[in-house]
Amino acid sequence: MSRMDFDLPLARSWIDAAADRVTAEHAELTALDSAIGDGDHGANLRRGFAAVRTALTERQPQTPGALLLLTGTTLISSVGGASGPLYGSAFRALGKALGDAPAADAAAFGAALAAALAAVERLGGAAPGDKTMVDALAPAVDAFQAAAAQGFAAAAATAADAAAKGRDATEPLVAHKGRASYLGPRSAGHIDPGAASAALLLAALAAVCAAGAEGAEEAGSA
Ligand code: ADP
Ligand code: MG
Repeated sequence: MSRMDFDLPLARSWIDAAADRVTAEHAELTALDSAIGDGDHGANLRRGFAAVRTALTERQPQTPGALLLLTGTTLISSVGGASGPLYGSAFRALGKALGDAPAADAAAFGAALAAALAAVERLGGAAPGDKTMVDALAPAVDAFQAAAAQGFAAAAATAADAAAKGRDATEPLVAHKGRASYLGPRSAGHIDPGAASAALLLAALAAVCAAGAEGAEEAGSA
């Protein structure tokens, strides 16, 4: 089995893939937010990840932890709205948990993901079932940790699946946090935009891990 750890190139690939997906899918994210919020979620994240890309290129962080810390700090400073501070805190917690190690294995990354989720829950006060990004993040963190022994790529793929299921499961829920909660029962019948973007971030991680695992296998068999 090929060994893959979360190192600096993988961290950069993840954030680049996330930025690409947010840019490609900003209209869908905004459409979800138009239904139960104020229609800015896609634009918020597109602006935030563009600023992140610039910051990473200018500052060239040298460890995966430092890269994710800078990602979080940049999201906080460039995204207005609830999602900037929430995702910003999540990436900062992820980066802090990874410390200055050159790479993290799946178990260490799973623990860091749990710290990121805890940061979101602490700042936003949302629990699973409140129809927020937590509904995609919490099952993804559980799934990643449960599959960590199977290696990084398998854990990331399982986490992305769980996040997508969590996103879809927000549709019938009534929102209890964020702007959507102002609608009360009328928030039911729509997927939560933050749950959709959280699933997208996990899908980006799974995609770069799958590409990395394939590359490692090819290198191994050459
Ligand atoms: P805003 O609501 O300020 O316009 P965005 O549109 O960028 O910010 O993000 C909205 C998303 O943020 C929601 O769909 C939800 O997933 C998430 N969110 C809002 N408030 C909270 C909270 N208290 N805890 C967790 N997530 C939240
Ligand atoms: Mg909004």
